[in-house]
Amino acid sequence: YRAKQQGKGIVLFDKRMHQELVESISLEAELREVLAHDGLILHYQPIVSVLDECLQGFEALVRWNHPLRGMVPPDRFIPLAEENGLIVDLGKWVIAEACRALKSWQQSIDGTAGLTMSVNVSCRQLTKPGLVEHVTEVLEHNQLNPRCLKIEVTESVLMHDVDRAINELNRLRALGVQIAIDDFGTGYSSLAYLRRMPIDHLKIDRSFISGVEEGIKENDQIVRSIISLARSLGLGVVAEGVESREQLEWLRQLNCDRAQGFMFSRPVDNAKAQELIRKFTAFNH
Ligand code: C2E
Ligand code: MG
Ligand code: MG
Ligand code: MG
Repeated sequence: YRAKQQGKGIVLFDKRMHQELVESISLEAELREVLAHDGLILHYQPIVSVLDECLQGFEALVRWNHPLRGMVPPDRFIPLAEENGLIVDLGKWVIAEACRALKSWQQSIDGTAGLTMSVNVSCRQLTKPGLVEHVTEVLEHNQLNPRCLKIEVTESVLMHDVDRAINELNRLRALGVQIAIDDFGTGYSSLAYLRRMPIDHLKIDRSFISGVEEGIKENDQIVRSIISLARSLGLGVVAEGVESREQLEWLRQLNCDRAQGFMFSRPVDNAKAQELIRKFTAFNH
């Protein structure tokens, strides 16, 4: 498939491409297996309030714990799962597992009833029928407050099939689920278009957060603009990829609502996430 794109019709198929293709095929077969046998795991990264550094919730990030390859990052298999349609089942598993984890934390740790869980949903997941029904079922099964679930979609997801996307997001919001635009600023949404979107939060892409200590002026201007855009549209705003205290201070001055990044914690497994919750709640009291 890639050979055709690059060669503009002429099939150029070099050794490296061949190797990549073989690798993709074997990954695909293994991914089917792993899905059928619960071989994926979720890691969780905290999202923190900028003003007082209270824990707001977590983002669920899928990993494939491969016996030979080690931890395979999502960028390596999500695009593949999108291409072959496995993303639908994979995505359902992620939503169910993330909601199950959130409920168990809310039940076992005091003061966590308002804790939220953000889940990434890709293009094919949103436009295939059944997502809203699955979310409804999972929320009911776990007796979760729908406001505690946030669905993250990228701008490209929304651009792909605008009417369909708006329709699905409206149905999710009717359940009480919140919607965030992920990696905001890297896509091409126009302002007019953004206003039509049924969304609650913007997540500023981490490429705009880094470099601010080095005084990259453009990033400062972009982040200011995104925050003021969010304000005027009545949306919440989250900064991704916050790695240092300087960045957090800067975001505080700009009145950013929430932050997520290595400064607080890398994505961690379920047991470590519970430790983090306990640490944060001890600190808050
Ligand atoms: P994303 O949704 O934008 O997730 C944030 C990514 O940034 C995560 O990478 C996270 O580990 C990383 N990150 C967080 N804080 C920092 C930081 O301070 N510095 C740096 N350098 N990186 C940071 P990860 O886990 O590798 O995920 C990559 C992407 O894969 C995600 O980007 C998301 O688009 C996709 N993805 C992950 N899990 C799922 C899933 O369950 N379903 C779908 N459809 N996509 C997923
Ligand atoms: Mg995300
Ligand atoms: Mg992102
Ligand atoms: Mg991303």
